[in-house]
Amino acid sequence: MDLEKDRKISQHTVLVVEDNADLNNLMCMVLQNAGYQTESALSGSDALDIARELSNIIMLLDYKLPDMTGREVIERLHAKRKKVPFIIVTGQGDEKVAVDMMKYGARDYVVKDPGLMDMLPHLISRIDNDLSLEKKLAHAQSSIARSQAKLSILYRVSTAISQTLEIDRLLGIVLETVTDLEFLHVGKKGGILLVEDDRMHLHSHLGHSDEFIKLHQGMRVGECLCGHAAQTGEIIVSENCNHDIRHTIRYPGMQPHGHIIIPLHARGRVTGVLYLYCTSPPVIDNEKKELLTSIGNQVGIAIENSKLYEDTKRVALHDPLTGLANRRMMDIVLDRNFQRARRLKSPFSAVMIDIDHFKEYNDRHGHAQGDRMLIEIAGILQKETRKIDLAIRYGGEEFLVLLTDADAEHALDFAERMRKSVEEREAVTISLGVASFAEWVHSKNILIEKADRALYEAKRKGRNRIEMSA
Ligand code: GH3
Ligand code: MG
Ligand code: MG
Repeated sequence: MDLEKDRKISQHTVLVVEDNADLNNLMCMVLQNAGYQTESALSGSDALDIARELSNIIMLLDYKLPDMTGREVIERLHAKRKKVPFIIVTGQGDEKVAVDMMKYGARDYVVKDPGLMDMLPHLISRIDNDLSLEKKLAHAQSSIARSQAKLSILYRVSTAISQTLEIDRLLGIVLETVTDLEFLHVGKKGGILLVEDDRMHLHSHLGHSDEFIKLHQGMRVGECLCGHAAQTGEIIVSENCNHDIRHTIRYPGMQPHGHIIIPLHARGRVTGVLYLYCTSPPVIDNEKKELLTSIGNQVGIAIENSKLYEDTKRVALHDPLTGLANRRMMDIVLDRNFQRARRLKSPFSAVMIDIDHFKEYNDRHGHAQGDRMLIEIAGILQKETRKIDLAIRYGGEEFLVLLTDADAEHALDFAERMRKSVEEREAVTISLGVASFAEWVHSKNILIEKADRALYEAKRKGRNRIEMSA
């Protein structure tokens, strides 16, 4: 009954290698009766020919053949890198040879004795089962190995993206990590476009010329291959840009290249696109595609989290009415600038600003109009300050500007520009107090106090003017 079951799943043909034709026939018959397919060879060279042709065979190999020994048959097969499971058959009294052949990889041995025909089907059935099991095991092991490799790639990406919440750093790290993944065979070149409404903006890139970067700013969703990936949400694999009609953006000196483009999904939409350059025609099977989809989801969520973090940071560190930095942001920047100025012995100034008679303005024009005035003045401040400076809404109608690498002269210039600008453009005037960093200013609070005192002086001396701290 067991044999019946085994026969049905057997994928193996038994190759009977025996120079005694009668015995060979008999063995084949017995095995066929037990349900096995057989082939027969009367010499070593016959056996080699058949074994080279067929796969999935079990060889029943007589040791003493007319042209060579069973051992030579196996050696020649090994030389051709062919591994055939075999059972050695010896004459009575030759068991020592049989044991030797076990070292050559024989699965078992049988002796030509009266019990041979009875035991043959059982022996083949056992080997057959063993081989099927081994095959299954090997398959399972390779699928475990593949899963482990996939997990390790995902782990690498997730570890990389957990390093930071700052979006620029995050995207840089993602590009570095993904272009290093060996299984993709991509070059150290690519970029990440973030989707905003119907446009895509190149936020991070690797290995591009300035011209390329200019060409790819503000692309439309749907445009070129990346736009396509953003629109469809599907991974795009393109072998050669010159033969792909979807690759519409072209530029002088463009070399033939292939692409892998991964849409970055988060919360059910495409938040961006990661594009890579292939060094050889990309081969992306379903398994790799699944892996890329997981990477796309991981990165997409990381981008969303990072955006959320940036938004939260902006709200927490900025004044909602004017959009200027708030006191919390001031503390952070002041600390940093103070240390920097000390270390580099570079100048650093603060300008305190207060609107003159603002209470009156409010009383006359209403609070809403007062708010609009605050926004106007914040706008002028922002326009007049450089990127390295920081304009802060310090209190109700008071502002503070921190000027990096600016000495007293520079700060006074700035203050005068501000004063004049407000006087010329607005229905109010401002008073300003200037203080500059000096070695003896030990703490950031002293600097602000000095600017505040200078401002008070300006008020006292009649407003719409600037005073410099002593
Ligand atoms: P001075 O020239 O001495 O600075 O006179 P001032 O009237 O500007 O000074 P004071 O400190 O007496 O009044 C400040 C005014 O600023 C009172 C307050 O209503 C107004 N203010 C403060 N914060 C806001 C705001 O958020 N919106 C509006 N509209 N007004 C504000
Ligand atoms: Mg005031
Ligand atoms: Mg005031």
